[in-house]
Amino acid sequence: MATPTHPPRRANVVADREGVTLRGFFGVFRYSRRALELVWTTNRNLTLTLAALTLIAGVLPASVAYIGSLIVDAVVTAIRTASVAGRVVDLVVIEGVLVALIAAAQRGLSVCQSLLRAQLGQRVNVMILEKALTLDLQHFEDSEFYDKLTRARREASTRPLSLVTRTFGLVQNGISLVSYGVLLAHFSPWAVAVLLLAGVPAFVAEAKFSGDAFRLFRWRSPETRMQLYLETVLGREDHAKEVKLYGLGPRLLERYRDIFRRIYREDRALTLRRDAWGFCLGLIATAALYGAYAWIAVSTVARVITLGQMTMYVALFRQGQSGVSAILAAVGGMYEDNLYLSTLYEYLETPVPQRSGAAVRGPHPEDGIRFEDVSFTYPDAEEAALEHITLQLRPGESLALVGENGSGKTTLIKLLTRLYAPTSGRILLDGQDLAVWDETALRERIGVIFQDFARYQMLVGENVGAGDERFFEDETRWRTAAAKGRASEFIETLPHGYNTQLGKWFRDGRELSGGQWQKIALSRAFMRTRADILVLDEPTAAMDAQAEAEVFEHFRQLSRERITILISHRFSTVRMADQIAVLNRGAIVERGSHEELMRLNGTYARLFSLQARGYR
Ligand code: ADP
Repeated sequence: MATPTHPPRRANVVADREGVTLRGFFGVFRYSRRALELVWTTNRNLTLTLAALTLIAGVLPASVAYIGSLIVDAVVTAIRTASVAGRVVDLVVIEGVLVALIAAAQRGLSVCQSLLRAQLGQRVNVMILEKALTLDLQHFEDSEFYDKLTRARREASTRPLSLVTRTFGLVQNGISLVSYGVLLAHFSPWAVAVLLLAGVPAFVAEAKFSGDAFRLFRWRSPETRMQLYLETVLGREDHAKEVKLYGLGPRLLERYRDIFRRIYREDRALTLRRDAWGFCLGLIATAALYGAYAWIAVSTVARVITLGQMTMYVALFRQGQSGVSAILAAVGGMYEDNLYLSTLYEYLETPVPQRSGAAVRGPHPEDGIRFEDVSFTYPDAEEAALEHITLQLRPGESLALVGENGSGKTTLIKLLTRLYAPTSGRILLDGQDLAVWDETALRERIGVIFQDFARYQMLVGENVGAGDERFFEDETRWRTAAAKGRASEFIETLPHGYNTQLGKWFRDGRELSGGQWQKIALSRAFMRTRADILVLDEPTAAMDAQAEAEVFEHFRQLSRERITILISHRFSTVRMADQIAVLNRGAIVERGSHEELMRLNGTYARLFSLQARGYR
């Protein structure tokens, strides 16, 4: 298979530079504040409890070490003076209580975290979906953007909390370290310096490797996306038919494996390097520990400190070092969490151009739809999809669009429904520029069925009701619309009629034939009773010719005052339209009624005769 190359994206370059600078290192805290804000606004009480417990869990270990030293000294004194062990037992009880408190604090921390994780996951998912509702179609068609969306959704429930937990963990370990340091400083400030300095090399290495991992992660996301996609193709019912018949399975699975192998190679290299360095630098810490141990032991023998103090200092040193490594691990994890949060916020802050105006009606309703020299190029596309389109459709008129695949028919509809805005020129409805129309008012006017209309895995009735969100669950309206869309006949034969579940994702879900789905989609358009512009983008291709003609006729009868636009390859239907526009590579090359175009004897006439001959 072709090996995808990775053009150095801008984000990577920035990350590359950041990886080595101090600013890059402090970058691990970049999103901590925002994560904290998120957690705070999700549940204040839980956040406060979490903070309090973090503090307690930070301070207690040092006091345990301190009590431990008192116990040893008390034991030694008791042995020397041959007195009763009352004080020793008291101290042991106190230490026991403190240890129990630490356990309680830790348990409490994990409870808070579990609860917060659930709430936060839901909150972030809702934020992501709410944002998705405000986005333009072009966002969904943009692969980089889609990347952000999938990544943001995949780890929504864990990452923000993880960042907060790690930040808190850092604070907790920091507090412990300070308290150890305070106690240890009584022995010697130099010991504190050794403890901290011994951790520095490992710390720097960890920061560097975490930065590498961070960059690898970002760079790799198109590949991870491909893996996710392959999982979908291989694992879902809508692809199963083709995958089986064409025997694509093994090949796609091989691709899936290939991607893993490549990713794994990089991961292995990084992991090995990271751990080799970790081990070597860790040795420095061990050497420091045993150096300090010897020093403390010698001081004890020289009676500079007591036996109890010795146990305490050794324990402090040991725990101090594990505190330092816990901080290292937290920093490593925080890089990844930051990566996640940066994609999340990049996604959430995607600017959405406000193209919507406030107009709910136009000054000249009799003007209908008017395209004035409209051209359009898809973002990132090189060629224009539509060029210099000028046409007008008055109320009561119908238009059929004819042309090869890719000639721009659907694009024209996307512009009319304002899913995209023209690159130049303008489109008017009732004499009012589309850009000025209020979004809802505009959408209410238009009923449209695209070739790739949605097949909701919901009730049959809801699939019809989807055409008008206000009456999504209104069974009476479903029935009326289904009758107009020629769907009621087959719906009534379904086991639960309008309440039959569709789609294989759910238990007892029924699958419909292509033609039946189209009738559902058609009925959906009829739900929009207020719509006076009806657009059918090859909605009837899977129906027989008879049904298509009937549907179109029906439309026209309903639409004395309505505008109907039809895209079809069936000339028997197309010829019924008042106006026919032939598109070729984004431009209108012929326009007129069936008779006019036949007389013109151009493309339309040729295509028409070609198809008519097939029927003779
Ligand atoms: P038709 O409906 O006539 O088959 P379309 O309007 O769908 O054709 O497509 C017109 C042209 O625009 C084609 O060249 C197609 O490749 C391109 N195109 C369609 N959709 C997109 C898109 N989302 N992004 C970029 N180019 C597109």
